[in-house]
Amino acid sequence: MIEQNYLCAGNHQGAQIIMVSFDPTLKRNQRLLCQKCLDDLQLPTKVEGFQKTLDSIQDIDNVLKILDALIKVVTDWKMQFQQISKTKIVYSFLDELESLVYRQQHYKQQEILERINKMN
Ligand SMILES: [Zn+2]
Repeated sequence: MIEQNYLCAGNHQGAQIIMVSFDPTLKRNQRLLCQKCLDDLQLPTKVEGFQKTLDSIQDIDNVLKILDALIKVVTDWKMQFQQISKTKIVYSFLDELESLVYRQQHYKQQEILERINKMN
């Protein structure tokens, strides 16, 4: 939300801001201009309609909101991906454990068979 109460460069009380100056040499409290400010303006300066500037700022605000939403989607996706990765690690660990148990059983059976063979 952009604040709506502004004071023009000339401090003209209650005056409607109609233009905005983009002159980089001006201070921030010198950029907003009412009709009286424009009438008094002596130096040539790059100005733009106040409403157009306000729209541009709101456009930027909207882009930032979209970026925030995208960042949230990417963060959620990243968390889901990390969760899936963890699940896969658990699964592969269980697979490896199963394989280890099977191999140990297999060796034990072989050992027993070898002992029986030796006894014969
Ligand atoms: Zn003014």
